[in-house]
Amino acid sequence: MRLRPRALLRKGRSWLRRRQRRRVVPHAAVLMYHRVATAAADPWNLCVTPLHFDQQLQALGRFADFVPLGRLRERMVAGGSARPAIALTFDDGYRDNLDVALPILERHAAPATVFLVTDHIQSGTPFWWELLADLALCSLRLPPRGRLAAAQPPFEWSDQALAASSGPADPARQRLLAALWNWLVRLTPATRTAALQEFAATIGRDLAPDPAALPLTPAELGRLTASGLVQAGAHTCSHVRLTDLAPAAQLEEIAGSRAACARLTGRLPETFSYPFGELDESARSCVAQAGFTIACSSDPDLAWADGDPLRVPRIGVRDAPGEQLARLLRRYWFA
Ligand SMILES: [Zn+2]
Repeated sequence: MRLRPRALLRKGRSWLRRRQRRRVVPHAAVLMYHRVATAAADPWNLCVTPLHFDQQLQALGRFADFVPLGRLRERMVAGGSARPAIALTFDDGYRDNLDVALPILERHAAPATVFLVTDHIQSGTPFWWELLADLALCSLRLPPRGRLAAAQPPFEWSDQALAASSGPADPARQRLLAALWNWLVRLTPATRTAALQEFAATIGRDLAPDPAALPLTPAELGRLTASGLVQAGAHTCSHVRLTDLAPAAQLEEIAGSRAACARLTGRLPETFSYPFGELDESARSCVAQAGFTIACSSDPDLAWADGDPLRVPRIGVRDAPGEQLARLLRRYWFA
């Protein structure tokens, strides 16, 4: 994607500001991953292939030290190392974090934090955005118009281009996916499930979750944390957008996921990440009140020693060869 001149100027200015700040403020990078997998459709760029993940850790390990998220501030403040520090994080708690990512983390002795959507870990319910992507992008045929009344206001679509559409990259399918996402994200989990079932029935499909995209089971989570390399953090109970909720409901989601995480792993988690990276002042206060000491957003920036520990920026990682990611970090973020 080409940047327009104004965006380029903004990017240049923030690069300069960061460069000046880097001279005086200790800093590190927190990377945000979701899945290590090859998926049929990946509209939100959540997947890094196993080959690329392995290459990325190899390339990053040549110039940086992998540090657990919980020890990053200590390391930044202590200084004394010429090598940059990188913390790895995974959002949501996908099963491939155990099956695929863990052996690669072990090979590179790289610690990581996995932020769990605790209701999904406890119930095994597939993540709704995975079901949606499968239905909207991977169906053999999609009707050009339809109406879903599982929630109010109902969702209607009409797009002649859908009739001849095929494959996940089709623009008409991508438009339908985005519109449905915006409708579904505001619903409660139960209504959303009903809405997805209605969508599946309308387009002549069954809800068929991809087994590789399921959440970790409690037993799988046990194996992941028993490795000693992966720590669990919380990511709310239901992956709600916190900015849609009143403060009491925010606290319930945040504190509830901390308690559930403790029940699942036998340890109270210190770390949290905001679903969709979205927070407001009251969500941040709830995170403090619930007892978390570190919380991650997805504001793209380095983590700074003098920054807010309850709003730690993260750099999202896309599927790319290892050297490409290492170059981006060295020449843009750490340069
Ligand atoms: Zn998430």
